[in-house]
Amino acid sequence: MDKYRVLKEVFGYDTFREGQEGLIDHTLAGRDVLGIMPTGAGKSVCFQIPALLFSGITIVVSPLISLMKDQVAALNAAGVHAAFINSSLTEGQYRKAMEFAAQGRYKIIYAAPERLMTESFLALTRQAEISMVAVDEAHCISQWGQDFRPSYLKIAEFLRILPRRPVLAAYTATATKAVKEDILCILGMQNPFVTVTGYDRKNLYFAVEKPKDKVQALLDYLDKNREKSGIIYCNTRKNVEEIHQRLVQEGYGAVPYHAGLSEEEKKKNQEDFIYDRTPVMVATNAFGMGIDKSNVRFVLHFNMPKDIESYYQEAGRAGRDGEQGECILYYGGQDVKMNEFLIQQQMENEEFDWEERILIQERNLERLRRMTFYCFTNECLREYILRYFGEYGGNYCGNCKNCLTEFQETDVTEEAKAILNLVKTSGQRYGIQAITDAVHGSDNAKVRQFHLNENTYYGTLKNRTIVRIRQILNDLLVKEYLVLTAGEYPVLHLGKKGKELIEGTEEQVLLKFPKEQPKTLSTE
Ligand code: ADP
Ligand code: ZN
Repeated sequence: MDKYRVLKEVFGYDTFREGQEGLIDHTLAGRDVLGIMPTGAGKSVCFQIPALLFSGITIVVSPLISLMKDQVAALNAAGVHAAFINSSLTEGQYRKAMEFAAQGRYKIIYAAPERLMTESFLALTRQAEISMVAVDEAHCISQWGQDFRPSYLKIAEFLRILPRRPVLAAYTATATKAVKEDILCILGMQNPFVTVTGYDRKNLYFAVEKPKDKVQALLDYLDKNREKSGIIYCNTRKNVEEIHQRLVQEGYGAVPYHAGLSEEEKKKNQEDFIYDRTPVMVATNAFGMGIDKSNVRFVLHFNMPKDIESYYQEAGRAGRDGEQGECILYYGGQDVKMNEFLIQQQMENEEFDWEERILIQERNLERLRRMTFYCFTNECLREYILRYFGEYGGNYCGNCKNCLTEFQETDVTEEAKAILNLVKTSGQRYGIQAITDAVHGSDNAKVRQFHLNENTYYGTLKNRTIVRIRQILNDLLVKEYLVLTAGEYPVLHLGKKGKELIEGTEEQVLLKFPKEQPKTLSTE
C-alpha cells in the first residue's frame, strides 16, 4: 500500500490538501514533523496515513476524550483497528484494551497524556513496537498556548524512556512563535520538518459590530438570513439560555448547547444541528471541538472571546465547504471586563504556583488586549488576524467590513499629542480611564486623587466627546504609540512612536472614521 491508496481506500479522498503530503512523506522517511494548520485543514490524516503504513503501533496523544472517541469511531468505521485509552473506560474495558494492544490488535492507540507514564502503558511499550508518537493539539504543552496542560509535559518524559525512540509528529492550530518554539523544545524534536499552512480563509467575511442593542442586532441578522445554518456563540450559559429562548419566541429554529446541559440534551441538540434539523445553534465555547459540519453559513459572536486564537477557531467553523461564510463579532463594553474576570477566575481554579500564575495571567491579559484591538482597528480585519498568527497578507482583502467601509482620514495629531503628553507628564502611571477623564477635563474623585487636575494637559480636549477621545486612544494603542503594561492594573506608557511624535520627529497621526458614522457607537 502506498499513501495514495490509503488516502483513497481508507479515507475516501482523491487528492491531498495543502501541506498534507509533505508532512506524510517526511514522517514516513522517519523524520520528526511539526504541522501547524488551522482547524479543519485536515491534520488527522497526516498522522493516520503514516500510522497505517508503519509496521508498528502509533500512539496518538490527545487532550480531549470526546475528540478521541470521535476519531477512533471514524477510524473503526473505515475499517482501521484503533482504540482509545483514557479515564472514560471502566477497569474491565481498560484491561481488555491493554490486552488487545499487547497482542498487536490495534494499529493506532489514542491515549490521554496522563496515561503514558502508568505502569501498564509502559509495559505495553516494552512488548510492542512503537513506530510513531503523534501529539495532537500540541500547543497544550506550552504555557503560552491557550490551554496549557501540565500533563502534556509527561510526553517528553515518556519519549525519553522508550526503548527505541519512535518518529515524533506534532500537530496544532496555534501558530504563534512562542508556542511553536515551546513545542519544538519541550518535546525535544530532532531536526524536525516544520510546515505552516494557510491560515487565510478567503471565503470568510469578517466584521465587528458595536450595536447599542445586541439582541436586536442578532434578530435583524437572522431575519435577513432565514433558513441558513449558523452558530451563535455566547460567553455564559445564562446568555445562551436567554438568547435561545428569545429566538424560539421569535419563531426561529434554534437549540442551545453548554456544559450545564445533560449529556443527552447536548447530544440531541448537537445532532439536531449537525443533521440540519435545526438551523441555529446557540452555544458557549463548549460547542464545536471535533465538530465537522460543512454548511455553516455564519458564526456570530454575541460576546467577544478571550483571545484571537479562540475567535478564529470558532469563527472558522463557518464555510468549511469553501462557500461564503460570515463571521460577525458583536462587541460591547462589558465584554472586556467579563473576560478579565474569567481570566482571573481561571487562574484561581488551576494548580499553578504563584510565579507561573502571574506569568500566565499576564499572557492571558495581553492576548485579551490583542483581541480587543481587533474590535477597534479600522484596518483590514483579515490582515490583523493573519499578522497575529505570524502570516502576512496584503493590507486589503476586500472581504471584511473594514475593507468594504469607506473611511475618511482625519488628522488627529494635535489630539494625539495632548493624550501622549498627559501620559508622559503624569509619569506613565495611569490607566485608560484616568487618562481619558483627565484629558477631557472631567472633574471626578479619581482625577483629583491622582492630582491629574493639576496637570498642564488637563482638559486640553474638553470640547471633544469621551467617545472620540477613546477612539483616538484606542487607535494610538493599536498603532503602538501607546502601550499598556501587563498586570492587574494596566497603565499607559509611551511607545517608541509615541515618543517620536511628541518630540516632533514623527509627522502626523491619521485616524480613519467611517464616512457614515454608525448611529450606534458604543461609548466604551
Ligand atoms: P483538523 O484536525 O485539522 O481540524 P480534521 O483532520 O478533522 O481537521 O479534518 C477536517 C475535515 O477535512 C475532515 O472531515 C477530514 O475528513 C477532511 N479531510 C482531510 N483531508 C482531506 C483531503 N485530503 N481531502 C478531502 N477532505 C479531507
Ligand atoms: Zn479586509
